[in-house]
Amino acid sequence: MRKLDLESVLPELQRRKAKRIGIQIPDGLKYRCEKIAEFFESRGYEVVISGSACYGACDVDLDLLRDVDVLLHLAHTPIFDIDRVLYVPYYIDYDLEVFEDIDIEEKRIALIASAQYAWKLPQVKEVLERRGYEVELKTGSKRVKMPGQVLGCNYTVLRNSKAEAVLFVGDGLFHPVGAKIYTKKKVYRFCPLDGEFEEVERDVEDFLRKRYVSISKAIEAERGAIIVSSKIGQKRLGLALKLKVLAKERGRNVEVIYLDDVTPQRLENFLYGYYVNTACPRISYDDVELYSVPILTPQEFEILLGVRKDYEVDEIP
Ligand code: SF4
Repeated sequence: MRKLDLESVLPELQRRKAKRIGIQIPDGLKYRCEKIAEFFESRGYEVVISGSACYGACDVDLDLLRDVDVLLHLAHTPIFDIDRVLYVPYYIDYDLEVFEDIDIEEKRIALIASAQYAWKLPQVKEVLERRGYEVELKTGSKRVKMPGQVLGCNYTVLRNSKAEAVLFVGDGLFHPVGAKIYTKKKVYRFCPLDGEFEEVERDVEDFLRKRYVSISKAIEAERGAIIVSSKIGQKRLGLALKLKVLAKERGRNVEVIYLDDVTPQRLENFLYGYYVNTACPRISYDDVELYSVPILTPQEFEILLGVRKDYEVDEIP
């Protein structure tokens, strides 16, 4: 069961005496905006929907916030406390019995999940401990709110992990692949909805092979630029400027480009041979096929410059 808990914000809207509310929702759920707007309109609120892209809690529509009493940011856990922004959680429910059937060779395991699945990890931990596992469920940096929660830009719940292996609960391969590169430990992925259980291994090799191909292509290119996003939770201008200095010391000139949404269309007129992306790391990892030139992470750029040897995932702590 998937649940967007709209009821949860009603008391706070009343307490704040809000009249006009803004609604910001991730692209994948925008098809539900009509029903969501109706829910609030039927309770007397004036509703304005954000049409901008919404990548995560790092991406709050501050323009819309100026024109409404309260902005509802849907389906992400908060990264920042911003006055007049309320977060509406989105949970995926799943049975705990399914954790009786998975067998993990290692006895000490760290539990992680994306936000939609992480709310139930304390109960998953209990099931696994009853079965004799020693389970680590740690709190990460301020960017992640729930124990065991990982983001595409944050694996701090695994920092200094003493576990022998990691169990990722959820769908998709991106987070478990990131966890494996981050910890260098064995990582299992288990989706409690369809019961799919696997060790993540070959996907990591594929991922790294593609990333090193991008680095090699960028080495050949003469002109490059470093991208900075103006989004509140993605902006790393300081890092971009440091990389520019580092590049200059190594004989490479790069410009710094500042923009809101990082998309191929926004970059197509610049004609650089490669980019270094300091915005959301997933732009480098997931959108690589959309760009005609390499789009490296800061760590990959350091490998290109010869100041880093080991591959590391990009993280915004
Ligand atoms: S920076 Fe990217 S991975 Fe991190 S919260 Fe934002 S959208 Fe998610």
